[in-house]
Amino acid sequence: MREFLKGIGPLRRSVRWSKRFTKALGYRMHRVVNVFDPKRRTECTRDTIRCGDDFHNAHYGYWYLGEDTPVCCTTKLVEVLFWLVDILEANEIPYFILWGTHLGAVRHKGLIPWDFDIDLGVEAKYEQKLMDLIVESGREQRYHIVKDDEYVIRIAYSRMNCQHVDIELWYDDEKAQGNLFTHTFYGRISIPRSEIYPLAAYTFHDRTLTGPKEDAYLRKIFGDTIYTHGYRSSDLTDDSEFPLENPGPARIRLDLPAATRYHKK
Ligand SMILES: [Zn+2]
Repeated sequence: MREFLKGIGPLRRSVRWSKRFTKALGYRMHRVVNVFDPKRRTECTRDTIRCGDDFHNAHYGYWYLGEDTPVCCTTKLVEVLFWLVDILEANEIPYFILWGTHLGAVRHKGLIPWDFDIDLGVEAKYEQKLMDLIVESGREQRYHIVKDDEYVIRIAYSRMNCQHVDIELWYDDEKAQGNLFTHTFYGRISIPRSEIYPLAAYTFHDRTLTGPKEDAYLRKIFGDTIYTHGYRSSDLTDDSEFPLENPGPARIRLDLPAATRYHKK
């Protein structure tokens, strides 16, 4: 049986690669046909879906082709993040950037150029206070706030455009004294408080944000090469890590005057 499985291993691999190749070719063909689309867009707005999901957008499926996130999308992500951080800081609610956002702050001094969401953590004891603060202000910004379970509050740029910041809620871990835990895409995660606090300062574009004191959890999930190599998890055209030299942050339109950064009417 083992010999049989060994025999079909390469075959399964080549089937997987040909599926990926065909899919990526489809996205490339779409780019060509899209030029003639009368509804063609090059940017997303509050009233469209995000670029990567939009069949009428020139950036449709950009992540599958290993491309960076379009500026319209990165700007929206950072805009929602900075709006939220303003509220958290003004009301003295401690927060810590997490996962790709934490890695981006350390490695790129901002958003990872190919990232497409933002994550930060807040202790669950602040949940009610936080919700009271963001619901009203979020409505004014026309952001779309969703809470489907006890572990995450999602703030999307709009009801249509799902570029979003996820606030993960962290609880005292009864199974491990002194730890905080939450449930994420990566499963149940429990981290000692001593790896999070005291919070550290991280440069993120033109601001300073707070994040966990240590990065041990990042290395545990993503591996030891995180600071020297990049990896685009959705890239269909390549499967491998690539070396990073002087990695900069994603391009965003922070050159806009601060007052127009939030789309308040
Ligand atoms: Zn966009």
